[in-house]
Amino acid sequence: MNHEPTVFDKIINREIPAEIVYEDEHCLAFKDINPQAPVHILVIPKKPIVSLAEIDEQDAPLMGHLLVVLSKIARQVGLESGYRTVLNTGPDGGQEVNHLHFHLLGKRSMKWPPG
Ligand code: 5GP
Repeated sequence: MNHEPTVFDKIINREIPAEIVYEDEHCLAFKDINPQAPVHILVIPKKPIVSLAEIDEQDAPLMGHLLVVLSKIARQVGLESGYRTVLNTGPDGGQEVNHLHFHLLGKRSMKWPPG
């Protein structure tokens, strides 16, 4: 299902600025505007998928690609001692932007369970 354009579409289309750290044909990664850790990067598909709740089998290669990109970025920014990846889904999941995105958080010790 396609979605209403979000702030992330504007970042993809370079209509608003972002600190982009990685881009390829399928995805974009940029620094979160309100970082919750010393490293806080968002990795998003260019395809306008609202959330994890909307994906189906045809999105499997894309979702796998996003994870590979996350792993590569984590290595590039020096997160050898670990990091947290977060994928908030829907209102109860704490999702605020309706364009699927992984958070990559690092350079601090994370707690469990998350809030
Ligand atoms: P969610 O709560 O939907 O999982 O996360 C949305 C994230 O997008 C938040 O961490 C928020 O700080 C970030 N964000 C919202 N608007 C912008 C923006 O315009 N630019 C950037 N770089 N990040 C944004």
